[in-house]
Amino acid sequence: MTETSGFLTSNGMAIDLTDLTIDKAHKHLKSRDFSAMELADAYLEVIEKKNPEINAYLEIYDDVKKQAQQAQEIFESKEENIVTGIPLAIKDNILIKGKQASAASKILEGYTATYTATAAHKLIEKGAVFLGRANMDEFAMGSSTETSAFGVTKNPRDLSRVPGGSSGGSAAAVAMGGALAALGSDTGGSIRQPASFCGCIGLKPTYGTVSRYGLMAMGSSLDVIGPITKTVADAEIIFKAICGKDKYDSTSISGSINAVSPKKEYIIGIPREILEIEGIDKDVKENFEASIKKFESLGFKTKEISLSNIAYALASYYILMPAEVSSNLARFDGVKYGLHKKGANLLEDYLNTRGEGFGVEARRRILLGTYVLSAGYYDAYYNKANDVRRLIADDFENVFKNVDIIITPTTPTPAFKIGEKVNDPLSMYLADIFTVTANIVGIPALSIPSGAVIREEKELPLGLQLMAPHRGEHSLFMVGSQFLGE
Ligand code: GLN
Repeated sequence: MTETSGFLTSNGMAIDLTDLTIDKAHKHLKSRDFSAMELADAYLEVIEKKNPEINAYLEIYDDVKKQAQQAQEIFESKEENIVTGIPLAIKDNILIKGKQASAASKILEGYTATYTATAAHKLIEKGAVFLGRANMDEFAMGSSTETSAFGVTKNPRDLSRVPGGSSGGSAAAVAMGGALAALGSDTGGSIRQPASFCGCIGLKPTYGTVSRYGLMAMGSSLDVIGPITKTVADAEIIFKAICGKDKYDSTSISGSINAVSPKKEYIIGIPREILEIEGIDKDVKENFEASIKKFESLGFKTKEISLSNIAYALASYYILMPAEVSSNLARFDGVKYGLHKKGANLLEDYLNTRGEGFGVEARRRILLGTYVLSAGYYDAYYNKANDVRRLIADDFENVFKNVDIIITPTTPTPAFKIGEKVNDPLSMYLADIFTVTANIVGIPALSIPSGAVIREEKELPLGLQLMAPHRGEHSLFMVGSQFLGE
């Protein structure tokens, strides 16, 4: 991570934020090496220094010190949890009661949440400290954070490049040393892809294991909240803290980490055919081959596998997702939430509000979604895509009879330049080629750093994606942490 060390506590101890993880911070807090207030102050100092340039946060909350004080009181009463006092960033589409949340859209500018998302609530009740809300692509649509109505976030590794998206602000906040971990949301890769571009760990949990209550819906059958962290162990800590069945989300299921029993030996499946897809960077391919060798040298068995319908994953995602987007975003009509632009009659109110409030990408997807759901085309597009979804799920079910983990690169290229793809939606959509499948199938997937490439003298991180069967998070943590030598 970037240099941020040297914050001195009142007893003269230097807090080295670069080296800190949730686990380590917890030990220090517990042995009173520093207080939750000092820890929060150290992060606020970094944010003050770096955020004006990087724009990871859209807002720093005005009650951070109060939250930290409350966390300290939990420690004093010896009722602490491992996340008590841990400074976190939260994506701007996850609600905290009384705080603004805009999904980085003009249509929600100034909107204040009236309730708290279950995932956030679970952390708050354990005394975690939310520093502020993180920038994102508008309504989580994008792969670069460039569709935010409030300016792009820069990649802390190279300020001329994007941090990925849509949870780009969350990943950048962690990578710049401005939070110990962050919450993001993942509909087609929005946790894993930015984690990969910024050199972090990103977990997309099994669909339903983390409640979607209080997450602004994008594609309801695909969306899931998950963590972006510095270590696999930290991702596990946050996942355990936020998962579980929730009466406010009927699609939620138990997130028990022991749902799939641990194995002595994990077999790694390699769908090498995906490397034939056009547009995959040569360095990414080499890094993937090197990762396979690393697994073998660590004693893992590897096995070539074939996922014959995976080639249709991206195409079906870009039918299913906009269909759900068009219906989910219908609620932003200028009456119920946020922006209101008056016209001569109600229809004009809608048109003015939605026309001015939504950005180009949101409007594109609403149009696409409305089209694929229209009476004349429903069968040709939406139903077809649903059939393909079933075929892809069957492929995975079959392959998981013989392997425990499937690996792919997380992204086809390292972080690209700001502006490079912004006028070319198709090439932007290709950034999700490896990640959308896990959302289509609902399985958990973890992105871990797998090395770096040099571009214009800057070191850019690459990511490796690990996928496991439904509720196989434990396997991901086991194999991921072994790969990284944690
Ligand atoms: N980049 C993908 C998209 O634009 C994924 C978005 C997401 O996961 N929220 O749809």
